Amino acid sequence: MQDALREACALLQQGDIVALPTETVYGLAADAFNPTAVAKVFAAKERPSFDPLIVHIAARGDLKTVAKVPDEIAEIVDKLTHAFWPGPLTLILPRHPDVPDIVTSGLPTVAVRQSAHPVFRAVNKALGHPIAAPSANRFGSISPTSASAVTKELGDRIPLIVDAGACSQGVESTIISIEPRAGKKPVFRLHRAGPITKEQLQEFGKVEKAREAVGQVVLAPGQLASHYAPRTPLILLENPQDFHPEDGKRYGLLSYTGDDDGPYVTLHDWECIEALSPGSGKLAEAAIRLFFVMRTLDEAGLDAIIAEPVSETGLGVAIMDRLRRAAVANKSHPA
Ligand code: AMP
Ligand code: MG
Repeated sequence: MQDALREACALLQQGDIVALPTETVYGLAADAFNPTAVAKVFAAKERPSFDPLIVHIAARGDLKTVAKVPDEIAEIVDKLTHAFWPGPLTLILPRHPDVPDIVTSGLPTVAVRQSAHPVFRAVNKALGHPIAAPSANRFGSISPTSASAVTKELGDRIPLIVDAGACSQGVESTIISIEPRAGKKPVFRLHRAGPITKEQLQEFGKVEKAREAVGQVVLAPGQLASHYAPRTPLILLENPQDFHPEDGKRYGLLSYTGDDDGPYVTLHDWECIEALSPGSGKLAEAAIRLFFVMRTLDEAGLDAIIAEPVSETGLGVAIMDRLRRAAVANKSHPA
């Protein structure tokens, strides 16, 4: 592993891109201060230039090198970063002028977090610069939670994939921006649901939906309704009675627990069933397995994937968000 870390660092130093594990999903990394390197990330992913990247810092103290934290939110930023960093919480903050335009898609703000993954942290620290890293998949496709998933997505386009096994969280970081309120706890605008839950954030402030735009300024770019899409159509079946299978078609079930007696498993003679949290129904396990299970079903040659909803509390909010986006994507691009 030491050799892989050294090689990753050398590649980043010379302006190349590498896939690195994070605790959320595998990231496609570039030196955030090198715009030519960052351009390679957009090219490899075929990501549109209006979709900004998250910047990862090696230590909390490096925040000032990428963001200018206004006095009104300095205290809450301190509290949040002490509570949740290193970890899967991304903060949108006013950007430091040293951060290249290409990283933020020209926005006056930058999205920043500190990864908790030991491999990512080691490379970040050794590089001595922040790392810009979106998920290591082709744009719009399922995020990779293993090195083999990265190989399938981008293997022929990047010089190195550092393999550190499966990701421990499985869904992308929670993204918030912060609005101070005089004499009251701040409002957190939730740009993307993720592993740090609304319930956890509520201890520090009021959580509200992100506004899409103020005037002409887009505040939540990249959060396209259609995202995380398998190639096979995915139907999120909120009510089992709404399932009307067509003769001769092959359907697979993306189940929560895979319970033999449950209303979804017994609904149809499924071609295959994949459970997010087999047996026990734990949301944390479901989050870790979500993209893996979506990929497995996508590779099963089905006509459609039928997804069972999970309860929309805690981590279930992030899981349902990803399932809805996968379902919307299929509607706009019928297979
Ligand atoms: P990814 O790196 O693929 O997990 O996606 C990063 C996401 O972070 C983008 O798609 C945006 O939705 C969000 N993001 C990054 N920078 C900003 C920013 N400055 N303002 C608002 N959202 C951002
Ligand atoms: Mg992504």
